[in-house]
Amino acid sequence: MRVFVEVPHDVYTTDVLVIGGGLAGCWAAIAATRQGSRALVVDKGFVGGSGCSVFAGGVVLYLTPEDDPTDFVREHCRESELLLDPAWVEWLVQANYERIAELDGWGAPFDRHDDAAEGQAGSLHRRLIYVGSRETVWRLGLDSVELMKLMRKQVLRTKQAKLLDHTTIVKLLVQDGRIVGAVGIRRQDERLCLIQAKAIVLAAGGCAWKGTHFGHDMLCGEAYKLAWDVGAALMNMEYANGYIATNTRFDSHGQCILAAIGGKYLNGEGEPFLGKYSDKVPPAIHVIARGMASEIREGRGPIQLDLSAVPVKDREMWLHAFKHIAELARRSGQDLFADRTQWHPGFNGSVSGSAGVYFTDTTMAASVPGLFVAGDAATRGYVVGASSGITFLNLAWANGSGYAAGVGAGEFAQNSGQEAHSDAKWKSELAEALRPMERTGGLLPDVVYGQLQTQAMPPEVNIFREGERMQRALAHVRTLQEEVVPNLFAPDFHELVKCYEVEATALTTDLMYEAALLRTESRGWHFREDYPQRDDTGWLKWIVAEPDEKGEPDFRYVSVPRKRLEELGILESAAAV
Ligand SMILES: Cc1cc2nc3c(=O)[nH]c(=O)nc-3n(C[C@H](O)[C@H](O)[C@H](O)COP(=O)(O)OP(=O)(O)OC[C@H]3O[C@@H](n4cnc5c(N)ncnc54)[C@H](O)[C@@H]3O)c2cc1C
Repeated sequence: MRVFVEVPHDVYTTDVLVIGGGLAGCWAAIAATRQGSRALVVDKGFVGGSGCSVFAGGVVLYLTPEDDPTDFVREHCRESELLLDPAWVEWLVQANYERIAELDGWGAPFDRHDDAAEGQAGSLHRRLIYVGSRETVWRLGLDSVELMKLMRKQVLRTKQAKLLDHTTIVKLLVQDGRIVGAVGIRRQDERLCLIQAKAIVLAAGGCAWKGTHFGHDMLCGEAYKLAWDVGAALMNMEYANGYIATNTRFDSHGQCILAAIGGKYLNGEGEPFLGKYSDKVPPAIHVIARGMASEIREGRGPIQLDLSAVPVKDREMWLHAFKHIAELARRSGQDLFADRTQWHPGFNGSVSGSAGVYFTDTTMAASVPGLFVAGDAATRGYVVGASSGITFLNLAWANGSGYAAGVGAGEFAQNSGQEAHSDAKWKSELAEALRPMERTGGLLPDVVYGQLQTQAMPPEVNIFREGERMQRALAHVRTLQEEVVPNLFAPDFHELVKCYEVEATALTTDLMYEAALLRTESRGWHFREDYPQRDDTGWLKWIVAEPDEKGEPDFRYVSVPRKRLEELGILESAAAV
């Protein structure tokens, strides 16, 4: 037990606090400063160096104003199983284009033609690559490590923005119904910090249950918990369960794409099996993952990937576009194109899914005044729907939503008229943040985190969903939330941060299963063995969860706008149904 005579803390004052320094958070900070606001970007790890953005496979959707987006939007809506709003997808195409144009001007590490004038970067080289039967999707290759280094520099170049690395935000502060700041923990310094802010952009990523993929160690659903605790609503929580195909010996995140260039997944009997699960070539990502899990479950594992039929030009293109992944394959001692290699479904949580904080317009305002959301922290229900869609929309979303949230928060801060308060007012909040360190004993957070992983990650509960199994998982999580989490013990500041990670992931797991139990159909990632059919009559609606005064969820439904889906010819009109 640590006894604190005085809570050790520092005080920071800013206009816009950005929580999370991934691609979305960096854009938010840049945009906020352009509205005349000061911005402070706080990251649990390192701005530009933790979370997903820096590890992204390296391909971003890229359509320009010269392209007619209609075919893309139509196809994407189909792939996303219609649980989205085409108008938002159209907005995103344009918003992402603007950000890429700006990045291009900064010389960002995109694939480029060899047509540069001296001292300048070549023009962007976008490709219709790896799309199999999908010929409407333009993508741009990028080096995500270099991109995030550039983003960090660009944030600092604004002069009005500051960075605070290695600081975990654990609580948002609200006064008179609006955001006034946050409490953070600086574990290396063994200090807390009190940040006073007129507006906050939550860009703290999704929830990956600290899975094994790159960047996932940081992503525990803290954005959802921070928002929930101040009364903000969440949406699509049943879609926090993305899985992807990954090599068993290295992280080959995003490589479902290999099926699109001629890769064949084979079961233990050497048979290609995806045709059993879908007549599309390649099938959607969630179908690939479910197909693999089904074969393994029925005793026909392990799964192997045979890339021997991939044409040479596609191999070369892949090796270029995914050079970091190619290097990992090499280091794992596998020759992907010569050997059959073993693959399995890898859990990705809401990084692939679309769960997140609810908002309704392009200011990205959440339902608490002064709170804005961006990137994976925000629901991607409007743009990704029930599946990953055509994919590579996630970085585009971080670009578009990040910038929009920064504009929204920057303007809000400028008009807020709010003054900073004395830190004395928040003493009790600061002391409260240290409570797990003041206990004399109790379970350590890692033990409990492991139990949450067991309830969420195995395909048996979260690829193959079923009412009773989900009820059991939910009951287990509730017991942890009620009896164990409030008594977690933190012997030091490192364990203290982990206590908050447990709390956040417990809430995410709870809301994921509660929403999944409500959705009595199957659609995209949400596959229920007890309701195997998609139900467009009853379930073309999003589930929104709102906290009541005790923090318990009230669920309501928001209908997907059918009209545009009907105009696009991908949904029968209600009259005809
Ligand atoms: C391995 C991998 C490959 C991918 N490849 C692609 C791809 O090729 N194309 C594509 O479109 N998408 C891809 N994605 C998805 C894409 O990378 C993400 O959707 C996107 O980067 C999310 O950006 P973000 O800024 O919202 O979140 P992140 O980049 O995850 O950033 C969130 C940040 O918040 C910080 N944070 C979390 N909690 C707190 C807290 N409490 N306090 C302070 N800071 C906190 C984290 O440390 C992190 O730095 C990939 C994802 C992964 C994991």
